[in-house]
Amino acid sequence: MLIRGAEIHGRGLADLRVEGDVISAIGALTPRPGEPVIEAKGGILLPGLHDHHIHLAALAVRAASIDCGPPAVRDRDDLARALTQPGSGWLRGFGFCESVLEGTLPDASVLDTMVQHRPARLQHRTGRMWLLNSAALDELLAENTTPPGLERDGDRFTGRLFDEDAWLQQALAGTPPDFSQASADLARCGVTGLTDMSPRNDAVMAHHFAQQAECGHLAQHAVIAGRLSLVDAPQHGWRLGPAKLHLHEAALPDFDATCAWIAEAHAQKRGVAVHCVTEVELVFTLALFEVVGAQHGDRIEHASIVSPELAARMAALGLWACVQPHFIHERGERYLRDVEAQYQPDLYRLRSLLEAGIVLAGGSDAPYGSPDPWAAMRASVLRGTREGTPFNPDEALTPEQALALYLADPLDLSRQRRIAVGEVADLCLLDRPWREVRERLESADVRATLVSGKLVHQRIDESPVQRLARREAAA
Ligand SMILES: [Zn+2]
Repeated sequence: MLIRGAEIHGRGLADLRVEGDVISAIGALTPRPGEPVIEAKGGILLPGLHDHHIHLAALAVRAASIDCGPPAVRDRDDLARALTQPGSGWLRGFGFCESVLEGTLPDASVLDTMVQHRPARLQHRTGRMWLLNSAALDELLAENTTPPGLERDGDRFTGRLFDEDAWLQQALAGTPPDFSQASADLARCGVTGLTDMSPRNDAVMAHHFAQQAECGHLAQHAVIAGRLSLVDAPQHGWRLGPAKLHLHEAALPDFDATCAWIAEAHAQKRGVAVHCVTEVELVFTLALFEVVGAQHGDRIEHASIVSPELAARMAALGLWACVQPHFIHERGERYLRDVEAQYQPDLYRLRSLLEAGIVLAGGSDAPYGSPDPWAAMRASVLRGTREGTPFNPDEALTPEQALALYLADPLDLSRQRRIAVGEVADLCLLDRPWREVRERLESADVRATLVSGKLVHQRIDESPVQRLARREAAA
């Protein structure tokens, strides 16, 4: 395939040939007889974007679930309406937030007033808690042992289930979901690779990834982080990512045992990715690495609250950070309201982390954030809430810095992938030059996406009238 007349990232205007799964030539090239040609018309051609932190199975499941939080659901009546669905069997809700019920977390009896005759489970917005109605409790407890994370009030269960996803999955006897829709949505945004950061990823999930790739339901290259027990199997079409440590500030693990766990990961030549959304979690993590020693590949996920002092310690250890710049846009109003004033300046820093010498990469954390990397790039540059309130605007990135978050090599975030002869043809073609793209950062501008030389997305081009309408809507 020949991509003709593209603005090649890092090079300028040229033609590019793809043969098999690699880039075979760049320059002034003539089409060969019968060779498919894409006329780029000066559009920017980028290395394919990589989402460095996603939960693909959860994203796929969400596509078949009910949105139970703002802005779709704002109060009790909205929630009752959303949960009134035809059919029988389990209802699965996501995104629930206390603000829907005037700041309260419902127990099973409250949910029963909305869904009585079928089991319902609502996932809290944080992803850390499920809210069950009585029918759900009955069904789950009929055949299974009671997990420690199921809250009790005296001798009855409230229906609130904390951090028991593995138990829930087993109790529901669920098979992992089909990835087709989620994968196609990512391809539409120019995403050619992803790192799945689910802490419980094990051999079963890795096998599912391999199967989904095999039957064409997963177009992207996958890096799978997860348990220490997960071992590399390069022949199966996915690559092993870091070992994932999921900290909970309220129940931090034993310090010495965790040091030993990190040392074991390092002995396997595996980096460690630690979930840190609070200052306490970050302080704990830095202390761990200061004792065990950090190695190339160790990273902090989210880095939600980082004071300048802690940033200096992260930099001294050489830790990378995987950030979610779109959270400022999506959740900024709530952060401004709920996060203690002393922590506000330290929330989701970007520019000052780069200036401290910390390598950054971007991940959507989808389904807990939007899977669209362009929305995240836009949020990095604009640094405002959904309603337009500026949010630590000094932390803004340039569009080029924002793009770089998604061009990092997934196994070595300190290295930027680039377009060059001999590289795998993972490419993202936009419909206009970078000087225009950088002002918009819109996923709708992605025209074509190639993974290993294969076209996995090609935009159906609009009529001039439709294009005008889209431009006007964006303006
Ligand atoms: Zn996550």
